Amino acid sequence: MSAPAGSTTSAGRVVVGEAVRRRTFAVISHPDAGKSTLTEALALHARVIGQAGAVHGKAGRRSTVSDWMDMEKARGISITSAALQFAYRDAVVNLLDTPGHADFSEDTYRVLTAVDAAVMLIDAAKGLEAQTMKLFAVCKHRGIPVITVVNKWDRPGKAALELMDEVAERTGLTPTPLTWPVGLAGDFRGVLDRRDGSYRHFTRTAGGATVAPEEVFPAEAAAAREGDAWVQATEESELLTETGAEHDQELFLAGATTPVLFASAVSNFGVGQLLDVLVDLAPAPTARPDDQGSPHPLDAPFSAFVFKVQAGMDTGHRDRLAYIRVCSGVFERGMVVTNASTGRPFATKYAQQVFGRERETIETAYPGDVVGLVNAAALGVGDTLYADQPVTYPPVTTFAPEHFAIARAADTSKYKQFRKGIDTLAGEGVVQVLVSDRRGDGAPVFAVVGPMQFEVASHRMEHEFGARISLEPLPYRLARITDAASAGELSSARGAEVMRRPDGELLALFTDKWSLGVLVQNKPHLTLIPMVAAD
Ligand code: GDP
Repeated sequence: MSAPAGSTTSAGRVVVGEAVRRRTFAVISHPDAGKSTLTEALALHARVIGQAGAVHGKAGRRSTVSDWMDMEKARGISITSAALQFAYRDAVVNLLDTPGHADFSEDTYRVLTAVDAAVMLIDAAKGLEAQTMKLFAVCKHRGIPVITVVNKWDRPGKAALELMDEVAERTGLTPTPLTWPVGLAGDFRGVLDRRDGSYRHFTRTAGGATVAPEEVFPAEAAAAREGDAWVQATEESELLTETGAEHDQELFLAGATTPVLFASAVSNFGVGQLLDVLVDLAPAPTARPDDQGSPHPLDAPFSAFVFKVQAGMDTGHRDRLAYIRVCSGVFERGMVVTNASTGRPFATKYAQQVFGRERETIETAYPGDVVGLVNAAALGVGDTLYADQPVTYPPVTTFAPEHFAIARAADTSKYKQFRKGIDTLAGEGVVQVLVSDRRGDGAPVFAVVGPMQFEVASHRMEHEFGARISLEPLPYRLARITDAASAGELSSARGAEVMRRPDGELLALFTDKWSLGVLVQNKPHLTLIPMVAAD
């Protein structure tokens, strides 16, 4: 990037100005809580201005197809993507997809390393579910502020106060509801806006196809209109006030409290309120700490890190997309940047946003934005890219694997290809590769968060490296970090095994919580440290 002399400061001001209006977040939820519906509703309320890295519907790309595909068809525009960009009020909102369902994998967690805030979407009838809790653990680890949305209030569900207790107990966050439902779950009339005491009446529209008009009434009119339902809402809200459940921006940003909204995504109710809360309360991108821990200024020259790599499952057209999150400066297509981990240049000529079925070129991006880099064979998860001013961001966390399998070359004469494939997949972060002293080098163990990662790895070993493999599942479900002193005792314990990660870290694997619990009880001196997102 060559800037004319003297323009650096004003260019810097532009970057900071653009960064300040960015809101980059992801929705964390359990399948069926309504994430796709909410995403569609958000897109309806705001003006979609871009999508980074959409999947082009090719056969064999199953692992990357999310249910945004259906929305794409329904709405006639492409919103199948790794990141959707909306314009809302003065803000630019980036919503990063967290693949769920069958796609659930380490990638799902890694997306959360690239956001500044999360929306925790809860089904009013089900409360906090397993996948939500796993994703929440990652947010907590990173200290990401979380906004809670209780969805499906139009359907029978739990009591609002009960849900608040559940959130407090299970996440440790103090819920600070901004709105409070008028009418029980299943009889959603509207919300009491606790910020100004007004009543926002919920108006249904046919099929929720349009932005639901909200009528706002003062308290007296609400009381006359809704009677007992309003009285109950105000009483409960007062109860919350007495227990100190008021929003405090500092505590929210520190990850101690969570603002709560009540919504019906399918009827578009509460969606505009969520966008307003994102713009008003969620943090803008800030200077990201480098690997030395010192914040790298937003107005420094371009820098970004790779949070996700998607390799084509299609042998004929083996393209690889690397998704980067811009951390500083401005990204301009065509710039040649340096990959900090190899020192090699990377040309961004092919930097594109890949839309539903078409590819569209992205020209400019600012801190908080996501760019899909095409032909990114040389890039791996966690790599830093920079222009002009060297910087390296810390590696992306390795998450707790939950499934393990021994990989063996189907054809032993292809050992070289086998090794190369294993090393490449490990380097890219497709699977974690562990080595067990007991099993030796020839039988590396794949460790993954979601079983889909096994399929992707097998497919690529065969089609990309010409080394077909067989996978033998191992019975372990839990991993803890341990040390050499504990390893000996752990290896002889029943239902446990110790393996080594490429970075030298030792992992103790257990078949279940029970065998781990027994061991901890009998041998409290053993080192067993939970990993991020571990149960
Ligand atoms: P996802 O798996 O989290 O993406 O969930 P979806 O958005 O696909 O929603 C799952 C189901 O719940 C679908 O049948 C939706 O129509 C339905 N749904 C989503 N939001 C609401 C809501 O607010 N109220 C009701 N009654 N149903 C909803």
